[in-house]
Amino acid sequence: MVQLPEWNLCTGCGACSCVCPKNCIEMKQDKEGFLRPFVDKELCVSCGRCEQICHVLVKQKEKKEKPIAYAIRHNNDEILKKSSSGGAFSVFADKIFEKNGVVYGAVYGSDWTVRLTRAKNSEELEAMRGSKYVQSMAGEAYLKAAQDLEDGLSVLFTGLPCQIAGLYAFLGKDYSNLFTVDIVCHGAGSPGLFQSYIEDIEDKERKKVIRINHRDKKDGWSELIPIKMMRETEDGKKEYIPAFEDPYLYAFVQSMIVMPSCYHCQYACVPRIGDITMGDYGGLGVIEPTNIYCNKGISQILVNTKKGKVFFEQCDMVCEERPLRECMMFNLNLWKPAKKHAQRDQLFQDYTELPFRELAKKYMRMSTKMKIMRKIKQGAEKIEGAHAVSKRMLDFNIKNGALENLDDIIKRIEKLQQL
Ligand SMILES: Cc1cc2nc3c(=O)[nH]c(=O)nc-3n(C[C@H](O)[C@H](O)[C@H](O)COP(=O)(O)OP(=O)(O)OC[C@H]3O[C@@H](n4cnc5c(N)ncnc54)[C@H](O)[C@@H]3O)c2cc1C
Repeated sequence: MVQLPEWNLCTGCGACSCVCPKNCIEMKQDKEGFLRPFVDKELCVSCGRCEQICHVLVKQKEKKEKPIAYAIRHNNDEILKKSSSGGAFSVFADKIFEKNGVVYGAVYGSDWTVRLTRAKNSEELEAMRGSKYVQSMAGEAYLKAAQDLEDGLSVLFTGLPCQIAGLYAFLGKDYSNLFTVDIVCHGAGSPGLFQSYIEDIEDKERKKVIRINHRDKKDGWSELIPIKMMRETEDGKKEYIPAFEDPYLYAFVQSMIVMPSCYHCQYACVPRIGDITMGDYGGLGVIEPTNIYCNKGISQILVNTKKGKVFFEQCDMVCEERPLRECMMFNLNLWKPAKKHAQRDQLFQDYTELPFRELAKKYMRMSTKMKIMRKIKQGAEKIEGAHAVSKRMLDFNIKNGALENLDDIIKRIEKLQQL
């Protein structure tokens, strides 16, 4: 019988189900609502293909080059508005379309599950924009991307770092026409729990939810503005809810509803797995002055390979090289996994027993006292400005020991060869 990784190590990338010659590995939601492989023991012939391509079981090649850090943003304000941070994804996608290539990214299905799909042009790209803080299904995209690569098309593959690792393991080799972009990741939220969240809204509103945006920018994008969830129902009603008032977003930000494997993610490290890494730029200009600060969104980019560098230099955007230290000080998930919330396991024990509304009341909300404190703090922050907020965040990280081994890590990176 094949031995796939333990349930708390598997990232659910789905590569195993794609290579199984007997089609006996199905990706299904587990008791916590996460996608993972289930092997049909009756059909399995123990050929071991699934074990051989599993990125958790087979160690991936380490990157040996020193990344270069940038702050960037798209130079089209409309696209910037639709993007979660600085629109880096669209910058890279535009370049690939110019080469008549294809782009892989995440879209919602009609049942609010998320999967990686393929786009051939900017119309098809539209649905990929925006962070979906939910575990996505990658498997089918691996099969299609492999075909595109063999056909000689330029392929931009974006995904969570574990999905990029899954792709490399699945392909078994690198291709000169493949450009991978991994996303700085706080963890992948439970698809089952997300579906329950949507059902609960529909039940309360007695209307279908037609659009969700986990990172709406209606009020702008900066350290001063909390992340907002936008929910639109079929009657055209839109609600904008700050992260600390929306149960799903609150629990996600608190690392309460992510996959068990996320808490010891082996890809939350620098150098990173993709040719390029993209994330949100917090704390821009705190370590060194900047000329490109804007409150519509800034992406943090690490260029990790020579291939990534050549590609990046062809792209058209507003761009500034930044100290790697600044990126790492403000974006902990770039180099360390999210910390497990103390109530995480309890929440998932109740997940099968309690309706979403009860679960949200019990775990997924701030106390009224904390909400009031938060509002007072936000008022003060508005007066102090974005930089003061970043500096306080930094002090908080230092005090908590979150940056303890940062200097050693940076020293190690400095010794790597230049790109
Ligand atoms: C689950 C998750 C956790 C994240 N955590 C952090 C973090 O801790 N720190 C940080 O700096 N940034 C984080 N991000 C990344 C950030 O929110 C932006 O997605 C990223 O900066 C790209 O922004 P953009 O403006 O370039 O792209 P957009 O145009 O908004 O494009 C979004 C990109 O994310 C991809 N994507 C969206 N949802 C998923 C998904 N569920 N699975 C796989 N790919 C997806 C899309 O395919 C596209 O490539 C996270 C994103 C996700 C999806």
